[in-house]
Amino acid sequence: MTATITENDTDFQNTLTKELATALARFPRVRFGHLPTPLEPMDRLSEHLGGPRLWVKRDDCTGLSSGGNKTRKLEYLMADAQEQGADTIITQGATQSNHARQTAAAAARLGMDCHILLEDRTGSNDTNYTLNGNVLLDRLHGATVSKRAGGTDMNAEMESLAAGLTSQGKVPYIIPGGGSNPTGALGYVNCVRELADQASDIGLKIDALVHATGSSGTQAGLVTGLAALQSDIHLLGIGVRAPREKQEQMVFDLARKTAALLGNGLDIARDKVRANCDYVGPGYGLPTEGMKNAVKLLARTEGLLFDPVYSGKGLDGLIDQVRQGYFDGMNNVVFLHTGGSAALFGYVDTFDLHEYS
Ligand SMILES: *Cc1c(COP(=O)(O)O)cnc(C)c1O
Repeated sequence: MTATITENDTDFQNTLTKELATALARFPRVRFGHLPTPLEPMDRLSEHLGGPRLWVKRDDCTGLSSGGNKTRKLEYLMADAQEQGADTIITQGATQSNHARQTAAAAARLGMDCHILLEDRTGSNDTNYTLNGNVLLDRLHGATVSKRAGGTDMNAEMESLAAGLTSQGKVPYIIPGGGSNPTGALGYVNCVRELADQASDIGLKIDALVHATGSSGTQAGLVTGLAALQSDIHLLGIGVRAPREKQEQMVFDLARKTAALLGNGLDIARDKVRANCDYVGPGYGLPTEGMKNAVKLLARTEGLLFDPVYSGKGLDGLIDQVRQGYFDGMNNVVFLHTGGSAALFGYVDTFDLHEYS
């Protein structure tokens, strides 16, 4: 397929991008991120795989406490918390939650208290897993951290914690797991606007955008942003937890709510929501061979760090789909690096590394 970009198309795209910027500007936002994050080619990886040219959108470089995708969501969520007069943030996640770590840092920046509930979803007793990596950083940022057993109703736990704090005169604000609600998803609507500007600046036509999808806010924001720009970029989420049907439904529901919040009568097409959940392995947060190989390959070809729970499994999916020809006929595929490298220190024994002495 050859697409020639005419001046009219460019004008139309510019108009849509400006409209999107205007729609987003109505929402309060705290600037936490080092934005725009870089968009870089991964030429050694592309050469190694022999498929389309691969690029990386460096949302691992958002800057807040070692970065990651939650920073963009927190720009809108924490602004909302401030507007509501909150003095205390409550959130939840898995033990090695990157979301919890970035939330703890954001709360510290705004001088708010932060309570984090960590659900034991893996059953690991490795002290690196339970104390190092993100857990170390949560505590360094001054958050109060407490554990819950796997399968606990974490929303109910957050509600009861909030009720207790309210009765002590505090004003708590609950951020759902992963920061995934329509307000948080605005961060990834904003990322689409940013990426469109970046691609246009360097004359890059992006064919596909691939990323790890979990609590669904990232993908819902991306779907919504791409719809607003009437973009034909092929978006693919690589699942890290739920089966495909469930993941796609979660993303679709949240994208529709995000579009409604954005408020320009935007329609979300169900067929734009695509998840491939074949790379989860035995379960959320549990290592797979494919993830280990992908993380090592990127560390060794591109000098980039990916994480065991999300971006490493996302990469495993990207690499395998390149090999299977999923992107055949496409020229430029961007992998959105959602961060998470702090979690590597919680998974020290996972990577069968060579001996040293
Ligand atoms: C949370 C997270 C994701 C998934 O984003 P969702 O918005 O929860 O789907 C991907 N990668 C990393 C590193 C994350 O921390």
